[in-house]
Amino acid sequence: MKLFMAYEALNKHNISDFPIDFLNILKSYKNLKVITYSEMAKRQNCTVDEIIEINSSEDGVIHYHGKRDQYIIAYNEQVEPAERIYWTLAHEFGHYLMGHHKESTRASLARNSLTEKEYDVFEVEANFFARHFVTPPPLIIDGNLNNHTEVMNFFGVTYTVATNTLNYIQKSSEKGHKFSFPVKISTLFKSFLNKVRYGKTCTSCNTFSYIKNLNYCSICGESEFQNFNRGDDINMKYLGVSHTNGKMDMCPICKNEEILDNSNHCNQCGVFLFNYCSSKEYLDTNGDFRYDCETSLPTNSRHCHICGSISTYLEKGLLKSWEEEQKVQKEKNERLKDPFAIDPQKNFFKLVESDDNPPF
Ligand SMILES: [Zn+2]
Ligand SMILES: [Zn+2]
Ligand SMILES: [Zn+2]
Ligand SMILES: [Zn+2]
Repeated sequence: MKLFMAYEALNKHNISDFPIDFLNILKSYKNLKVITYSEMAKRQNCTVDEIIEINSSEDGVIHYHGKRDQYIIAYNEQVEPAERIYWTLAHEFGHYLMGHHKESTRASLARNSLTEKEYDVFEVEANFFARHFVTPPPLIIDGNLNNHTEVMNFFGVTYTVATNTLNYIQKSSEKGHKFSFPVKISTLFKSFLNKVRYGKTCTSCNTFSYIKNLNYCSICGESEFQNFNRGDDINMKYLGVSHTNGKMDMCPICKNEEILDNSNHCNQCGVFLFNYCSSKEYLDTNGDFRYDCETSLPTNSRHCHICGSISTYLEKGLLKSWEEEQKVQKEKNERLKDPFAIDPQKNFFKLVESDDNPPF
């Protein structure tokens, strides 16, 4: 069934977050090449405007060379906004996966506004594929995203795409359709849905986190947050301590590296190997006095997200304070501005999202 092709593709490429890293996915197909209009113009020794005319699309096109069974997606990289390019790639990918060229005598399928308005079953199908691939309706429903700004932010799509998807969901639901993923992929998006439900950005240090009961920033201790904005999660990396499921891999006190699997303490010196809230007494958000917070914390937390007290890792000097960390971050800021320039280093790991049952 055509609907499930998009979901099959999400599963095949193990996609768990949006927007999707398209170019890498397209690269994984041996008989598919991707080139920009500029490259194409250079090769043909002509202008980009001429390429637009040849391809009869300002956005993109997919060509098929039957004899060699070779596909080429050409896209106009100068189109703005970038989210429009993203949609074009999804659309052309749809033509490719659905084998439209093999059903047709045409060697190229151009995307432009004229053919979209005509009755053209291939175009409708490619858009249908793209919609389910880049803005899967079951996620929009589960995440309770019901306005276009949220859909634009979380999925990285244009206003038009967001609005079309929302209208499509509304209309289908009115007709009695119930959107759901096939069982095998419904678990892929657990962490994405946590981002949608709980994602907040600290107003002081800009750290993005998606912890359910977030009262205090776990990095700097700030209590003011703003809702998720597109791109906030790019900075979700802070120096932590090497760990396995929240348990330190090496004892920070005696440097013992042989940590027993079934023990939560160092077998040499007895130190507790998890990060947790150092507070034993605190006031909650209603101002009520409480005891024994001792919440389990991700290994990069400097502050408890529930009560704001410092973590045991910070207390013992296993993590640098936010102020010290900020200096390191400043030097990295230039690189972080360009999300494609991030070079994931071993010492960096994602701020661990928590759900009802943290793994530690
Ligand atoms: Zn098309
Ligand atoms: Zn903060
Ligand atoms: Zn020890
Ligand atoms: Zn606490």
